[in-house]
Amino acid sequence: MTPVNPFQYRDGVLHCEQVDLTEIARRAGTPCYVYSRAGILERFRAYDEGLSEVPHLVCYAVKANSNLAVLALLAQAGAGFDIVSGGELYRVRQAGAPASRVVFSGVGKTAEEIEYALAEGIHSFNAESEEELHLIDALAARRGVKARVALRINPDIPAETHPYIATGTREHKFGLDAAQAPAIWQRAQRLKNLSLEGLSCHIGSQLLDPAPILAAADVMLELVRSIRQAGYPVRTLDLGGGLGVAYRPGESTPDIAQFAAQLARKVAGADLFLIVEPGRSIVAEAGVLLTRVLYRKRTDSKEFVVVDAAMNDLIRPALYQSHHEIWPVHLSARPEILADVVGPVCETGDYLARDRRLANVLPGDLLAVATAGAYAFVAASNYNSRLRPPEVLVEGDRWRIVRARESYEDLIRGETI
Ligand SMILES: *Cc1c(COP(=O)(O)O)cnc(C)c1O
Repeated sequence: MTPVNPFQYRDGVLHCEQVDLTEIARRAGTPCYVYSRAGILERFRAYDEGLSEVPHLVCYAVKANSNLAVLALLAQAGAGFDIVSGGELYRVRQAGAPASRVVFSGVGKTAEEIEYALAEGIHSFNAESEEELHLIDALAARRGVKARVALRINPDIPAETHPYIATGTREHKFGLDAAQAPAIWQRAQRLKNLSLEGLSCHIGSQLLDPAPILAAADVMLELVRSIRQAGYPVRTLDLGGGLGVAYRPGESTPDIAQFAAQLARKVAGADLFLIVEPGRSIVAEAGVLLTRVLYRKRTDSKEFVVVDAAMNDLIRPALYQSHHEIWPVHLSARPEILADVVGPVCETGDYLARDRRLANVLPGDLLAVATAGAYAFVAASNYNSRLRPPEVLVEGDRWRIVRARESYEDLIRGETI
């Protein structure tokens, strides 16, 4: 069952669930991020139910969208969380989620972050180097606790994705070499303040074909067997995130529940607690960036639609040349135009779409930049001293602002002359 798109036209006007987007734009202003609660929950549940055959925890990757309200609704639905910084742990705790459902990934955990995570009592660390294992051990000793850790393995599987978000081959900074894993496990076993729980991996992001993740699962299961053969217990297996979403219409994407069930079938019978860390596939399609057209502008060769959202609000097109569909909030019968959709930032790279067939919009009209629930607001900046936009959460026929638009005072907080 493919989750439904929570953004649908009703009487020619784009709605999020039952809420008219013009209403949100009028009261919250633009630019503005809008998320669907049902859209997020439906995708989370597809994972959770797909994995039901085996003991498991779906650890939502906080970096995809770390708004407190989003974290809180996932926590209430039973999600765990994959974090990559102390700040993300703070957010998860502020959202009311138990630390016992948190796994901590990342190549560069600092001593302060490790201490914080030990104090909170997280589920486990996904350790990425022997040096890190030694540091966690030393800090756990000082605190008089045992730290639960998994070894993050680099299964050396190339993932078909943008080079900036492929992580699972030996050329990447992530993880420990699979061939060395049994020896590292053996050495780490002697560190008295570590409890070695299992193995983890994450091979990349925006994978439209799940085959590499399934292949990585096979490599990891083989590794579990060889470590067990050496006489060590392996209790958990974390297969990371990475499932892709459709940024272009008609792009075929893996069905979440089916994919999760495939993973569960592979792991079933291996006596493992399965963890997955999906981020994008839970939130991307449940969000849009609402923006208003400021100007139409023509040069000899090009047509520009200048909008009030820019690369500081949504950096994906500028950073990865990503495609985001752009939907008019009001459908019109006027013929489409061919245009670049650009923002006010003083950079040529500041665009949301290039040479795009688009609704023939006029100044004052609203556009919704699609698939903007993941890696969007979280990567927003104040570049050009622009105020970061508000975030809105829709639930049925109700909506509320879950992060206020920044003010000029916010912009200079902490600065002195
Ligand atoms: C980014 C990341 C994820 C989530 O990836 P998605 O592509 O958003 O599903 C999961 N695990 C780790 C370790 C990550 O770095």
